[in-house]
Amino acid sequence: MIPARVIERKRDGHALEAPVLAGFLEGYFRGEVPDYQMSAFLMAAYLRGLDDGETEVLVRCMLESGRTLDLSYLPGPRVDKHSTGGVGDKVSLVLAPLVAALDVFVPMMSGRGLGHTTGTLDKLEAIPGFQTDVSLARFKEILKSVGCAMIGQTAEIAPLDKRLYALRDVTGTVSAIPLIAASIMSKKLAEGLTGLLLDVKVGGGAFIPEEERASELARKMVAIGAARGLPTVALLTAMDRPLGHAIGNGLETAEAVRCLRGEGPADLRELVLVEAAEMLRLGYPDVPAAEARSRAEAALDSGAALERFVRLVEAQGGEPRVADEPDLLKTAPVRADVSAERAGIVLEVAPRGLGEGVIALGGGRTMMHQPIDHGVGFEVLVVPGQEVADGDLLGVVHAKDENGARVGVETLREAVRFGEPGERARDVRPLVSLRVSPDDAS
Ligand code: URA
Repeated sequence: MIPARVIERKRDGHALEAPVLAGFLEGYFRGEVPDYQMSAFLMAAYLRGLDDGETEVLVRCMLESGRTLDLSYLPGPRVDKHSTGGVGDKVSLVLAPLVAALDVFVPMMSGRGLGHTTGTLDKLEAIPGFQTDVSLARFKEILKSVGCAMIGQTAEIAPLDKRLYALRDVTGTVSAIPLIAASIMSKKLAEGLTGLLLDVKVGGGAFIPEEERASELARKMVAIGAARGLPTVALLTAMDRPLGHAIGNGLETAEAVRCLRGEGPADLRELVLVEAAEMLRLGYPDVPAAEARSRAEAALDSGAALERFVRLVEAQGGEPRVADEPDLLKTAPVRADVSAERAGIVLEVAPRGLGEGVIALGGGRTMMHQPIDHGVGFEVLVVPGQEVADGDLLGVVHAKDENGARVGVETLREAVRFGEPGERARDVRPLVSLRVSPDDAS
């Protein structure tokens, strides 16, 4: 296998034979194929695509590059959820403790920020002291005692994906359906789950913005799960506007805590409840949908989910007082209000520019392994369709210095598109537009 020939064949649009592709991937994993050749291959795969056979090879090589967890010691079902990534998507921070409170174990392995999206690990690390790199042995202990644990992909879990993921993040090769499908499913298949929920974002702030392609991604992942015996459900959820108000790691964590306290924004709370009910039913398929929903609501409203969150934070070395005092989270020193310069209607809050704005403020990476600032970001206080008066507050920029604040203010103004009073805002997508279960994917 000569790496340059493999790249050329993919560049020219040919399907690669399984042993050839596997040889290339394994060569990269062993260090015999350098990052620059893998980057070129990823770009060729991005532009030319991978067929189902090639995607299966990618899943297999990533899965087999590490080990599969055995979580059968746990006395209950094990269900995780994974999002394809969106702007303001802090669902996991609320969902994992909530579902744990419903007697479903949640062994959550998450990622860092990718492209214009923030990642769950970076959000958790906004909590002073929180460790996301605990050993697998400790992960298993926490999982058993708390009901959920939230860590990064360990060196044992699909390490080939971990390296490819970091490379894709900085080479413009994230948003390809087969690459995303294989990346997500290889990790999830390694987690020793009994069920999996996928949150596939759709709209301008998603990696795959178009409805048709997002549903193709959902079906592909559900089919990969089914083929390997993992019951998988996917939901297509709205990312044509940010989820909730907060965008940026620490700000999102604070909003997630507020949601756990019953104070979070309505869209975040609704998506959390929908996803919790799905995960409960993946764990206990006999529970009717309406009952799953009301049990999820009860666990959120009674404080049971918040109590799990506090135990989780404590178990992972974090400062548990953040549950009562979100101000203890890492914050940025400079704040700039952005107000409406005239009366009008908010036609659109475009998520992608805000996600990229977080990177510009220092809250995301432009190179692999770069340190980030957990405090910076945006609070966007208006939603599409909202009428505002001259001078009304549209949002707040959190920046590390005055220059950042200036850049942030421009970004926020560009993201909030204004129309004349009485003009009609573009219809927003329903929060959940499609559900794909194994029966639909085949
Ligand atoms: N999340 C992942 O884990 N992988 C991707 O490729 C995209 C989102």
